[in-house]
Amino acid sequence: MFNPQLLAGRHILVTGGGTGLGKSMAARFLELGADVHICGRRKSVCDDTATELMDTYGGRVMTHGVDIRDVGAVDNMIETIFAESPLTDLINNAAGNFISRTEELSPRGFDAVANIVMRGTFYVTHAVGRRWIAGKHRGNVVSITTTWVRNGSPYVVPSAMSKSAIHAMTMSLAAEWGHYGIRLNTIAPGEIPTEGMSKRIKPGDEAGARTIKMNPMGRVGRMEELQNLAVFLISGGCDWINGETIAMDGGQALATGGNFYQLRDWSDADWQQARDSIKAQNEKDRAARG
Ligand code: NAP
Repeated sequence: MFNPQLLAGRHILVTGGGTGLGKSMAARFLELGADVHICGRRKSVCDDTATELMDTYGGRVMTHGVDIRDVGAVDNMIETIFAESPLTDLINNAAGNFISRTEELSPRGFDAVANIVMRGTFYVTHAVGRRWIAGKHRGNVVSITTTWVRNGSPYVVPSAMSKSAIHAMTMSLAAEWGHYGIRLNTIAPGEIPTEGMSKRIKPGDEAGARTIKMNPMGRVGRMEELQNLAVFLISGGCDWINGETIAMDGGQALATGGNFYQLRDWSDADWQQARDSIKAQNEKDRAARG
């Protein structure tokens, strides 16, 4: 549906672009002619993704082993990228999340999510935006949030609070930076099964099963739907969209609230099992990061 060279000449950073939804958006941007940068804490994962994507689509994928919680590392990455060629678009996709009864959440657990999602996303947006303004460049920011920014969500409160902060940043900066030609929008997807999501969100559940049962359209989301929406938002096809959150969830949030309220039926043993599985996954990931 898009001209094959629609994004030629674009330089796009996708945070968390080594895996899942970020990887799939990066792939589509590359396929449509853009140069793509991806970052994540595990540089080797980004490197493997870059090799795979360039083998498939050609083009250039640059990788950065950067933790977006580290404001200095973020600024260095953005400085390095702009020294070669200013970004034209930023996709704020990196995030962390896990389910927990909120009364059992530790301050460290809260920070683990909030520091990535709220602070990290701001650090990257700020580092890019101020360079766009100083260099008189136009630019697009698309952030990946969730439908819970509209109604909150039980059992993932740090994520609900932090994604809502991105939603607020998007509306605020759309108004503040619009006159520089900088647009900010967000996409709020319903469930699109990815490894990262099922590891810490619904341990033990079959990916997508609960959504398929509850969703008005009886299915989960598809990668290409997200890819197409992300491309459209940065394409120039409708630049007057600014400060919007666009849900793509088959109408699930409207029908059901789109959240984890049904976990109220979980027993203590279910929660213990979830905690054990999340802990094991965290240890595995920490070992992978070295
Ligand atoms: P994912 O594969 O776990 O993606 C998260 C990515 O973020 C990973 O590549 C991870 O790489 C990176 N990341 C995490 N912490 C980071 C940090 N501190 N610094 C830099 N990078 C970091 O999960 P996903 O399902 O694709 O999720 C992608 C986005 O979509 C998230 O914003 C999520 O909230 C949103 N979303 C997903 C769904 C869904 O159904 N999949 C639904 C709604 C919203 P490292 O671990 O190497 O750092």
